[in-house]
Amino acid sequence: MCTCTDLGHDDVRRLIKAKDLKTIPAVMQELEWKTSCGCAKCRPALNYYLIATWPGEYEDDGQSRFINERVHANIQKDGTYSVVPRMWGGMTSSDELRAIADVVDKFRIPAVKVTGGQRIDMLGVKKEDLPAVWADLNAAGMVSGAAYAKGLRTVKTCVGSDWCRFGTQDSTGLGVRIEKLMWGSWTPAKVKMAVSGCPRNCAEATCKDVGVICVDSGYDIKFAGAAGLDIKGTEDLCHVDTEDEAVEVIAALVQLYREQGRYLERIYKWAKRVGMDSIKATIVDDPDKRQHYYERFIYSQTFAQVDPWEERANGKDAHEFAAMAEFGVPAAAE
Ligand code: SF4
Repeated sequence: MCTCTDLGHDDVRRLIKAKDLKTIPAVMQELEWKTSCGCAKCRPALNYYLIATWPGEYEDDGQSRFINERVHANIQKDGTYSVVPRMWGGMTSSDELRAIADVVDKFRIPAVKVTGGQRIDMLGVKKEDLPAVWADLNAAGMVSGAAYAKGLRTVKTCVGSDWCRFGTQDSTGLGVRIEKLMWGSWTPAKVKMAVSGCPRNCAEATCKDVGVICVDSGYDIKFAGAAGLDIKGTEDLCHVDTEDEAVEVIAALVQLYREQGRYLERIYKWAKRVGMDSIKATIVDDPDKRQHYYERFIYSQTFAQVDPWEERANGKDAHEFAAMAEFGVPAAAE
């Protein structure tokens, strides 16, 4: 895992469960960490493993997170932050756009950008303005888009059967449903999804961590794609007939990844390590196991779906956002 321990990620995860370890200090003491407080590699990993293993019991340790996850925004090269509210399935409204425009004017935000995940990014926000910016966005019904998180990012969609002549299913509705079910979940690394309404694939679902291609007979579910440092098309997971089945398969798949993935390991790397066959055997071939993972995901979500922006707009971690003191040159003595 790192030089603080001779144990690997899988051993640490197994022992956290076997020895009923529920805090970072307990893990370090019981597993004989060689350093007193761990390091920047093991602390975020342990924090994730404890969250994933003990939903509702382990209290997230913000100090064991990287800066972006600690302040719920992405730090930029000039020290300001970018703010991305969630837009479910890439859908927005005049009210949301008006609220975003008002926030941009009020806080003199210098840049506004449409992202590749079908959302709006406000760039150049001062750290001390973040809670007030979030309060205004919350008031318009928007929550954090978790654009900084090792967790669910976006579910990109095309317009599907509602609008498109080629649409076979309601791809937008399915994307919104998946995003509303899965937002707030922590995962070993970021998770990006997409749903396309037909094989023309306008939502680019075949390069995502999880992608759905809607077809006349139902839904082709794909996973383990990449379009970043590595480029890789998705693998076929399975075909299902109904939206309900698609949702169950996707949530179960993500839960399996949450339980087996090593911290910072994207889905395509996890799938390569454990093997496609083992994933399909659990999620596709064995309905009982699939149901088991699905239920574990749903249980975990009952503790995960808390908007971090709302918490901080209401004063949580206020010290993180306090303005730095300004040191002027003292006036010369008369
Ligand atoms: S993927 Fe198919 S249904 Fe969706 S917008 Fe493109 S052509 Fe239309």
